[in-house]
Amino acid sequence: MKDSRCRYCTCADDISVKVADLETSALLLTRDQSYKGRCILALNDHKTELFMTGPEELAAWARDLSRAAKALWEAFSPDKINYAAFGDLYPHLHLHLVPKYRGGPEWGRPFVLDLSGDNLLPPEELEERAGLIRRYL
Ligand SMILES: [Zn+2]
Repeated sequence: MKDSRCRYCTCADDISVKVADLETSALLLTRDQSYKGRCILALNDHKTELFMTGPEELAAWARDLSRAAKALWEAFSPDKINYAAFGDLYPHLHLHLVPKYRGGPEWGRPFVLDLSGDNLLPPEELEERAGLIRRYL
């Protein structure tokens, strides 16, 4: 089920580009690359809470998450991948996959959304980075 007012349902998402459609979700690379490789994994259906998924969908989403994280690990060699779920403003179930690097931004602390626009990757570099992730999926 889709919600026509939802940025994730309509793919009217101006903050990311699609990397790939996975089993039950879409992997999106965020334009802000303050954390190299930061992605969002958005469930295909418009559900707002984890308990609204069924066991099969939940298992498939876990497989997608693992697959996406492994691809980020292999593509960017981070020291850790952080996973964050918020959604107050955009309640569609989605997770932030945030590669973290020793000595990099917020190492040892929760990641911070950079809304400054200072780290927006140009479209061609963003597509190149998305292509790199696709190679490891
Ligand atoms: Zn939605």
